[in-house]
Amino acid sequence: MPKQIVRDLDVKGKKVLVRVDFNVPQAKDGEIADDRRIRSALPTLNDVLDRGGSLILISHLGRPKGGDPEADAPFKLDKVAARLGELLGRPVVKADDTVGPSARKLASELQPGGVLVLENVRFNKGEKKGDPEFAKALASLGDAYVNDAFGTCHRDEASMVAVPEQFPADRRAIGFLVEKELNILDTLLKNPKHPYVAVMGGAKVSDKILVIESLLKQVDKLLIGGAMTYTFLKAQGVEIGKSRVELDKLDVARKLLDEAGDKIVLPVDHLIADKPEAGAQTRTTESTAIPEGWFGMDIGPRTIEQYAKIVREAGTVVWNGPMGMFEVEAFAAGTKAVAQALADGQGVTAVGGGESAEAVEKFGHADKVSHVSTGGGAFLESLEGKQFNSIKVIPDR
Ligand code: ADP
Ligand code: MG
Repeated sequence: MPKQIVRDLDVKGKKVLVRVDFNVPQAKDGEIADDRRIRSALPTLNDVLDRGGSLILISHLGRPKGGDPEADAPFKLDKVAARLGELLGRPVVKADDTVGPSARKLASELQPGGVLVLENVRFNKGEKKGDPEFAKALASLGDAYVNDAFGTCHRDEASMVAVPEQFPADRRAIGFLVEKELNILDTLLKNPKHPYVAVMGGAKVSDKILVIESLLKQVDKLLIGGAMTYTFLKAQGVEIGKSRVELDKLDVARKLLDEAGDKIVLPVDHLIADKPEAGAQTRTTESTAIPEGWFGMDIGPRTIEQYAKIVREAGTVVWNGPMGMFEVEAFAAGTKAVAQALADGQGVTAVGGGESAEAVEKFGHADKVSHVSTGGGAFLESLEGKQFNSIKVIPDR
């Protein structure tokens, strides 16, 4: 059933609390490295403002401990609030706390069309704990609640579950971003066009076992790349040199290979390097084996060709995890080629995962795939078939 959505709410003259996910990647100097998550919330925010409401925005940023102002300082939301002001083209005020005197004063002064950003919600210990008292204090600032924080939907934190519970059913809704994310996931889970192809890569098998298991039930092919390749190859008794491997996951890898039959496709060649960093000496292997002393860093040219063809011809593609250490230019060809193949394909193409999204963006294909998810963990857990409390708490339409 579709959920109640922001446009269903009466917002005129109301203060609308919107839980957004402004957890942007930060550069070392604290600047915003990528503002995609802020831009993704704009449709919801503009809808409320255009209809005469005002906004009180709740977000976290990073993983502050909470309680130590000095340690928490790099995670303050001032830069995020400033960027939001530029993107909205209107003044944005920022509170120095989340539910304290500053937040309460600014919230009470808020006029229609006004925008208030509360301080990082994770500065409060009650957030992680889902504390009802903290949730009450937060909820008391506004008249209605909207969840547009897809990247946080898999977490039962106060601002995701206990806060909406404070509002009557007709004052809770999801935003347009969450709606869009849920729609694409619905297509992937219930109505994928075949051939349905999953491309899985990234750092570790252990992060992705559950999602691989559930995808195997649905997809026609599951292409493996990235560092998890070597755990699968090792499980088959193939030599992997000094490549990254999870020795405690060999049994799991073997079991997945046994169960999957020929659904799982592994690289037939690799780009290898004498050290896992920029400036390394590199070459391509003849076969699946990696010589002693060498590191597997990317899928090889024959694998690239094979994977790109399968991806281009798919009816539906879901991609999570880069094919190699794409952050280093010399190891980026596999990830680039898969991103290109997704962009070239005619089917539904969805990308999820922090680094995967970054790669699609970096190689300039973000606008050519059907959907780049703003969620890493939330996207993967949804693909595993999990239902989130943060969504259950929003009534159906
Ligand atoms: P995502 O965030 O998209 O879910 P992961 O976090 O699982 O992806 O993995 C991303 C990381 O995996 C990248 O930073 C990349 O450098 C690393 N990686 C991929 N292939 C290799 C490899 N062959 N050796 C070492 N690291 C790799
Ligand atoms: Mg990651």
